[in-house]
Amino acid sequence: MLVIQHINNINFGRINIKINMNNDILWAPWRMKYIKSPKDSKNKCIFCDKVKSNDDENNFIIHRGINSYILLNIHPYNNGHVMVSPYKHQSKFDLLCDKTQIEMMSSISHLMKIMRKRMNVDGFNFGANFGSAAGAGIEDHLHLHLVPRWNGDTNFMPILGHTKVQVEGLKETYKTLKNDFIKCI
Ligand SMILES: [Zn+2]
Repeated sequence: MLVIQHINNINFGRINIKINMNNDILWAPWRMKYIKSPKDSKNKCIFCDKVKSNDDENNFIIHRGINSYILLNIHPYNNGHVMVSPYKHQSKFDLLCDKTQIEMMSSISHLMKIMRKRMNVDGFNFGANFGSAAGAGIEDHLHLHLVPRWNGDTNFMPILGHTKVQVEGLKETYKTLKNDFIKCI
């Protein structure tokens, strides 16, 4: 049974959500939809499929670079959770060419700048899981994660209206990052 004692409003950049300040872990209940969903067959790759599609808006593709692209994670750990992935279907970062590696890191740097300025981000989690042993959900096509963090967000659990907040949050964050990223390059 879930007992909720204190519920507060908190502002995540431009998004307000109600939170329970008593929890001490970042809890993302909307990820259950992803966790429970049937995984793609071995021949399918969502990172390749999204690039092939021309519908960047519905795929939440923020930017298409020369060797890599940026997309919003639709099953985020936090609002603004983005991923940077090479076009090449590759599982090993060290096998990417230098230009791709540099472009991906440069994209992360631009995103950090934009998020600090536009979303009042206090910090970031940045990293990747290479290989299933390291926890990669989709190990065949590597991707870097950037998760913006706000002071105090480790102590919350979104409990009310999180589905609506997430959908609206995704669209708004997508527009902000897409519009601003093009100005950075
Ligand atoms: Zn792929």
